[in-house]
Amino acid sequence: MSIPTSTAVETSTETSFSLKDFLSSFMLSELFKGMVLTGKYAFRGKITLEYPEEKTPLSPRFRGLHALRRYENGEERCIACKLCEAVCPAMAITIESEMRADGSRRTTRYDIDLNKCIFCGFCEESCPVDSIVETSILEYHGEAPGDLYFTKEMLLAVGDRYEPQIAAARAADAKYR
Ligand code: SF4
Ligand code: SF4
Repeated sequence: MSIPTSTAVETSTETSFSLKDFLSSFMLSELFKGMVLTGKYAFRGKITLEYPEEKTPLSPRFRGLHALRRYENGEERCIACKLCEAVCPAMAITIESEMRADGSRRTTRYDIDLNKCIFCGFCEESCPVDSIVETSILEYHGEAPGDLYFTKEMLLAVGDRYEPQIAAARAADAKYR
């Protein structure tokens, strides 16, 4: 079996010259083809958005920042059953509870560590009273390690502030559940 020498390789490179390719390069035909393509799309409708001024629509099932909800009379929905804590695969939820004087059970502590959360939605799905929900809020951030550790008060505050939006999203999705 013969092994090609460097001379043979050089010879084969020399013979690969193509007049057609040379003329194509010389006439800048690739450049003009690109400009034609650019011109074709330049006047079409835009398919990009200028975020954050413009936003894409969100599904009612979007899983964003968590919130704890109340009933219309102001009572907390959560009955401290701890199903959400048990189902959370990231072990991000911590609940402590106690019995009230009227015999009802409520949480004394409800924390979600959003640093651990993977936004799977299991907590929301498991809740029998629609208390813990994931809202469509996605524009939030933390700068210090504790900033994304949400306490019960913080979660209730999110719920109080965005209840109309939360209720609308759940109503829109109700027929598919
Ligand atoms: S969304 Fe998933 S990971 Fe996050 S708190 Fe709920 S159950 Fe846990
Ligand atoms: S948020 Fe729902 S699932 Fe979690 S403890 Fe409260 S009632 Fe139970």
